[in-house]
Amino acid sequence: MTEPKPVWKRWHDEADPIRVGISSCLLGNQVRHDGGHKHDRYLTDVLGPWFEWVPVCPEVEIGLGTPRPTIRLETADPRPRLVMPSTGDDLTQRMEDWSAARLSELRRHELDGFVLKKGSPSCGMERVRAYSSGGQPARNGVGVFARSLMAQWPTLPVEEEGRLNDPALREGFIERVFCRHRWRGLLRRGGRRGELVAFHTAHKMIIRAHNEAGYRRLGRLVAAAGTMSDDRLLEAYERELFGSLSHRATPKRHANVLYHALGYLKREIDAVDKREAVEVIEDYRNGLVPLVVPVTLLRHHVRRHPVPYLAGQLYLEPHPKELMLRNRV
Ligand code: SF4
Repeated sequence: MTEPKPVWKRWHDEADPIRVGISSCLLGNQVRHDGGHKHDRYLTDVLGPWFEWVPVCPEVEIGLGTPRPTIRLETADPRPRLVMPSTGDDLTQRMEDWSAARLSELRRHELDGFVLKKGSPSCGMERVRAYSSGGQPARNGVGVFARSLMAQWPTLPVEEEGRLNDPALREGFIERVFCRHRWRGLLRRGGRRGELVAFHTAHKMIIRAHNEAGYRRLGRLVAAAGTMSDDRLLEAYERELFGSLSHRATPKRHANVLYHALGYLKREIDAVDKREAVEVIEDYRNGLVPLVVPVTLLRHHVRRHPVPYLAGQLYLEPHPKELMLRNRV
């Protein structure tokens, strides 16, 4: 029997690379203030074969050069400033203007995600040191480029390399990146309503694993598609979809989705197989086995009994198995 094509591959357009923006120093480029880099091997060696990286170094690109004096965030009202302490220069406006222009350019070329360098006053997405006059810096700042990126492009999956060490955050981010790539494909093909319905159907279980309320809102949106213009529909769907996927998929939510899937097999598998599946789902919920175990068992049953709804669910294979993302969540 020939192996069926993995579900993610059926949706994947190989002619269009998955393009992900990245803080340039994470690729090993020597762009840091001291002339060094922060090469992250997981990004280049494991994700590199799947992604086309689009490197961005905000500090070099605004003309600060390498090496350069250090810069930092300083607390101010209404928001922290980007300051070079050795000269007293305030670089905030310069960085904000450059970020707006660079982001417009990146949006024209499209991206599927962005990986930022943690802790940087330009690139850090959270908990960046913000200095006040005297006293300890508070770890509550956001890098100036990162702030613009997240404000101007709220549906883009964004993560820091440090947070990607958390297996659940890593799986969630890469799942969203692949999802955005499929979404871009749909838009490129014209975003027709029939295709949106197929897209939504294939993503149902993935969305439910992240946010049940968002899943219901998306369902209502698709059902009401005829009452609004295509542009409004696609914009609202994209916002709601990526908002829903940014919620953490907990073991409890995954278990609910797995039971939901098992319900579709109730007439197809016998009592012994059902009992085994329930046991495996409960083992997963209780932290005894990783998610890959119940999902693999389910996929096995779906191969033998191809219930069309389940056979088309991206949840069963949302990204390449070689990435082994569900082996530790
Ligand atoms: S953290 Fe950002 S600004 Fe700093 S060196 Fe890396 S890419 Fe450049």
